[in-house]
Amino acid sequence: MKRGKTQTGSVVLPTHRGDVVYSCIECQAQYSLEEFHYTCPSCGSLLKLLDRAFDELKRVSGTKWRAIFDGRRVSNRHFLAGIFLFHELILPAVPPEDVIYLGEGHTPLIRANEDLSGWVGAPFYVKNDGLNPSASFKDRGMASAISYLNHSIRARDIPQVLGICASTGDTSAAAALYLSYLPKGKVKSVVLLPQGKVTPQQLSQPLGSGATVIELPGVFDDCMKVVEELAENYEVFLLNSKNPARINGQKSYSYEVAQQLDWQTSNLVTVLPIGNAGNITAVMEGFLDLYRLNIIDTLPTVIGVQSEHADPVYRWSMTGKYAPVPVRASVAQAAMIGDPVSFPKVRQLVEEHYQSRFFAVRVSEQEVMEGMLTANRHGHVVCTQGGESVAGLKKAVANGLVSREDTLVVDSTSHQLKFAEFQQMYFTDSFAPEYEITTRMDLRNAPVALDADAESVAGFLNLKRKGKT
Ligand SMILES: *Cc1c(COP(=O)(O)O)cnc(C)c1O
Ligand SMILES: [Zn+2]
Repeated sequence: MKRGKTQTGSVVLPTHRGDVVYSCIECQAQYSLEEFHYTCPSCGSLLKLLDRAFDELKRVSGTKWRAIFDGRRVSNRHFLAGIFLFHELILPAVPPEDVIYLGEGHTPLIRANEDLSGWVGAPFYVKNDGLNPSASFKDRGMASAISYLNHSIRARDIPQVLGICASTGDTSAAAALYLSYLPKGKVKSVVLLPQGKVTPQQLSQPLGSGATVIELPGVFDDCMKVVEELAENYEVFLLNSKNPARINGQKSYSYEVAQQLDWQTSNLVTVLPIGNAGNITAVMEGFLDLYRLNIIDTLPTVIGVQSEHADPVYRWSMTGKYAPVPVRASVAQAAMIGDPVSFPKVRQLVEEHYQSRFFAVRVSEQEVMEGMLTANRHGHVVCTQGGESVAGLKKAVANGLVSREDTLVVDSTSHQLKFAEFQQMYFTDSFAPEYEITTRMDLRNAPVALDADAESVAGFLNLKRKGKT
């Protein structure tokens, strides 16, 4: 870090541009960022982004890094406002002027109230990633991937790009939003969705952003196969989490959690749903970055939650053997994935770094719904996947896997409103049998129709008249 010139007030601006390359997680081959890659051209495995100059960052002490990141929070510089506050750790190859910021990141960490903590069995926090611009954490990864695309378009003078993704709903909402910000003459936006397997709210998002929306029969895994083949054989920019630039943006979740806890992570346990396993990969990588730079002194425990209806990672964690599973109908629809693309990264991170600091928990569909509804009855606005996290934490507490003394953080990955139809199915007890969810009367709610006069409302509510005794 050069100081002096780059330091304005207490804000230290990023000067580290790093030496970032694609690096294969299996054969270790490296490739320049000058081309777009999604899998290793030599062996076909997953790629990650590697900053070969990362060790230069170690010249700054952990204490100093904490002060730098804390100092940037009060800066009004546009490019530091979102996930690129952690520029050195996200994608230092993208210069500040090419960063796209649409309001992502710095989502609130909200303390669960006493009643809800009592229900779960321990005090905890909800990090509400539904309060991102397209209402899910996917905006974090999209901000980095689209900033990289924006930089590439300018630096390499690319005339035309087609941004494309397959999605369980939220990736397409985020991709379409961020792509719509780039010049229309240069950038087109296409999303592939499994027909009938995203909510109406999620479908409305890419449509509203002007993307070409293509519906395919089957489930997400089928759409993913199509998009993988397209990315392999045609000139497209893939925006699934197979694109390692997405993972790097999503690491910001971990940096923020650590910062919001004043960098005290020694008893930290983070709980999040697993779908395609991109997010849990990013969260584990993010904490690892902080650990390597002495910004935190211990790695936290990471708990992945899966539904009984889509549980390949849970099965692997119990048996040590991985196999794709057929998925069944799930209200945690954004995580309804039978063969997670990023699983090999999860396995590597667990084997090499997290070991017993990682485990998976499995919950029923009924528990997912009750986790969501109960959280939302106590001041939260969590989605079904957030409900899955809450239910997973409750189970982990019940099974003695975490203690009341731990600092517990659950990820609500998107906003309640995206999944309003599952809430409605619950309230009206109209789930199709394959969901295996039955309504509990005490969690039901429905509007009451009355005449438009005060008498009838007061009568219905049993109100007492004022004064006049
Ligand atoms: C994508 C998504 C998930 C699953 O995340 P992965 O990175 O696919 O594991 C969970 N919840 C929501 C709301 C999502 O959009
Ligand atoms: Zn390789």
